[in-house]
Amino acid sequence: MDSALFPSSQQNDVALDRFVAISVDDGSARDARTADLLHKYGLQATFYVPARNPERPVIAASEIREVAKQFEVGSHTLSHLPLNHMPDARASREIKEGKSWLEDILGERVISFCYPRGKFNRTTPSLVRDAGFLGARTTLMNLCDFPENPFLWGVSTQAFSHSTLIQLRHALLERNFAGIRNFFRDFHGATDWQEHFTHALDYVDKHGGVAHLILHSWEMEELGIWNKLESAFESISRRGLASVTNGDLYRLWGSAKAAPAAIAEPVVRNK
Ligand SMILES: [Zn+2]
Repeated sequence: MDSALFPSSQQNDVALDRFVAISVDDGSARDARTADLLHKYGLQATFYVPARNPERPVIAASEIREVAKQFEVGSHTLSHLPLNHMPDARASREIKEGKSWLEDILGERVISFCYPRGKFNRTTPSLVRDAGFLGARTTLMNLCDFPENPFLWGVSTQAFSHSTLIQLRHALLERNFAGIRNFFRDFHGATDWQEHFTHALDYVDKHGGVAHLILHSWEMEELGIWNKLESAFESISRRGLASVTNGDLYRLWGSAKAAPAAIAEPVVRNK
C-alpha cells in the first residue's frame, strides 16, 4: 500500500483498513470555522465546492485556495443543480465545467466529485467517470463499506439529526436497502446524529471500512451546534482510525482493484 497516501503522523500505529472520512459540502462562508476545528483535532477532510449555488453564496477563489492548503477540495458541479432530471448533455457540461473551473483556481487536477443534493440517475455516474474523476460521493447513508462502484460512494452519517421515518423514506427513495438493514443492525436506529456516527466508528473499529461523516457548515451555524461538531471531531480524533480525504479513498479503491487482498475485508462485506 502507498504510505504516501496517509498523513505521516498516522503511518505507524494505525490499522490501514480502518478509515474515517469527513465531507464538507457547498463551500459556504462558515467553512473556515469547520477548517479550524478540523485542524485543531488533526483531521483530514474533503470540501466540495460548486462554482455557484442558487441557495446561498459560495466562498471566493482566494478562500478556496486557503482551504486547499490543508484539505482536499472536490467538485460539486458548476451550478449546484440536481443532475437527475437534466438531459445528459447538460449534466455533462455541469460536471465538466465545474471541474475545469475548480482546476483553474487550484492549479491542479481535481479527482473527487459530489452530486448536488445527492441526486443522480442511471447514467450520471458514468458521466462523472468520463469527465475524469476517480470517484463520486452520494448521500446514500448508513453505509460504512467500500462500494462496488466508486462513483456511487455512500456515507455513514449526516451531521443533522433525522427521524427514523426520514431515514427510511430517504433510503427507500434511493433504493438503499443495505442502508435500511444497517440503520437497525449497526446504527441501532439512532436518530441523534452524533450517536449515529458513534455507531459508525464502532462498526469500523470492529469490522474495518469507512466511517464517513458529511456536513454543511451553514447548518452548524443555523442550528447553533458548533460545540456538538467539535465534540464529534474530538471523539473521532481519539479513535486511532486513519483520517483520509475522499480522494485518498477513491485512489485506494483503484489500488484495491489491482490488489484486492490489501483491503479484502472492507471490500467484500455488504455484498
Ligand atoms: Zn451541496
